[in-house]
Amino acid sequence: NTENPVGHSETSRSQALFERAKKRIPGGVNSPVRAFKAVGGTPRFVQRAQGAYFWDADGQRFIDYIGSWGPMILGHGHPAVIEAVQKAMLEGFSYGAPTEREVELAEQIVERVPSLDMVRLVSSGTEAAMSAIRLARGATGRSKIIKFEGCYHGHADALLVKAGSGLATFGNATSAGVPPEVVQHTLVLEYNNIVELEEAFSLHGSSTACLMIEPICGNMNFVRASVLFMKRCRELCTQYGVLFIFDEVMTGFRVALGGAQSVYAKSIPGFKPDMTVMGKVIGGGMPLAAFGGTRDVMEQLAPLGGVYQAGTLSGNPIATACGLATLHELSKPGFYEALGARTQSLMTGMSAAAAKAGVPFSTDSEGGMMGFFLLDKLPHNYAAVMKTDSALFNRFFHSMLAQGIYLAPALFEAGFVSAAHTAEDVEITLAAATKFFAEI
Ligand code: PLP
Repeated sequence: NTENPVGHSETSRSQALFERAKKRIPGGVNSPVRAFKAVGGTPRFVQRAQGAYFWDADGQRFIDYIGSWGPMILGHGHPAVIEAVQKAMLEGFSYGAPTEREVELAEQIVERVPSLDMVRLVSSGTEAAMSAIRLARGATGRSKIIKFEGCYHGHADALLVKAGSGLATFGNATSAGVPPEVVQHTLVLEYNNIVELEEAFSLHGSSTACLMIEPICGNMNFVRASVLFMKRCRELCTQYGVLFIFDEVMTGFRVALGGAQSVYAKSIPGFKPDMTVMGKVIGGGMPLAAFGGTRDVMEQLAPLGGVYQAGTLSGNPIATACGLATLHELSKPGFYEALGARTQSLMTGMSAAAAKAGVPFSTDSEGGMMGFFLLDKLPHNYAAVMKTDSALFNRFFHSMLAQGIYLAPALFEAGFVSAAHTAEDVEITLAAATKFFAEI
């Protein structure tokens, strides 16, 4: 990492901040993965970021492949976004009354995602997924929901669930503080398992409100739903009147302008989910998320319908300015082609370097989202992801970190390339990976 003669292993200031943080913030962080618990070591406290890089508290520059876990698709501090945010700030931070910018953002999202007639803006992906489920239950008058093992939809109580012991037993809470009654309606199925899906629908389809899926799951590193599986999900949801909800918090405007649903529509003609949950990129790094769907479903939300949902900061004027400027940039012709090519050059380069060193490696990517496993073959569900060698991944993570490359500090997370990453950044990253592969 050329700009950094001092190296990347100095942690004295990050460590001091971490110790200070731990006194006043549980675990020293405001979201668990930031604590580096999975990989060990000192989490880097970030001082500032620009383009494809951030600088830590010890003044070291890292190539950032997390980008705030997905939102920073243009890279940090894009000038057009900064200008829009600065202008918005001067006009007031929050009004709790409607604004033109919210309407414009809703219009722009709906214009780009064909399954949507309407959206409601909220402040986080968790809130969007939670609200979408309430709406699905309200719209169908049914209680049960189906999700898949390994998919993360935020931390609403009913979604913090792992599979029960069979199709007749519903989920078990994965967090303390979630009473069994709250998850008794959540059925957790294996991702990409058509047989289990069919059995579940024959048993519970007619009492199920919705099926929620991460179409390209970034919370199992990177695992795609197969086209056949996706097609069957769509067919069964239609047959049983179950609302099919795409959680595109991560994939929305990240894998393609029309999201993961547009990727599946290429293989399944006319494919559309009934509802979509979005976040991350649509706020460009500000707290902004959304859920949307067809008019008949969305008009059941308050104030029109009986499903309550609200938010003091929903549609915040600064967040919407940031989101609009971000959407404007990523809608320019060729944006996703260039982003996808950059991401692929990184992944194919790593794959080649691993092959040369005889290290097992498998990878997949779509647009600016990528994943890799130190395995011969890509896993297709959570159980297979769980079998991967986390100790080896942790060594890889720390080797890359020490060379100035910031990957996700956990095996179960996808990585993100931004439009600011250059061919040189990719080369530096590949050289670092090659060094690690040679060492093992
Ligand atoms: N859904 C998916 C697919 C996510 O990846 C995440 C967060 O990473 C969420 C929902 C929750 O979003 P938030 O962290 O904004 O609450």
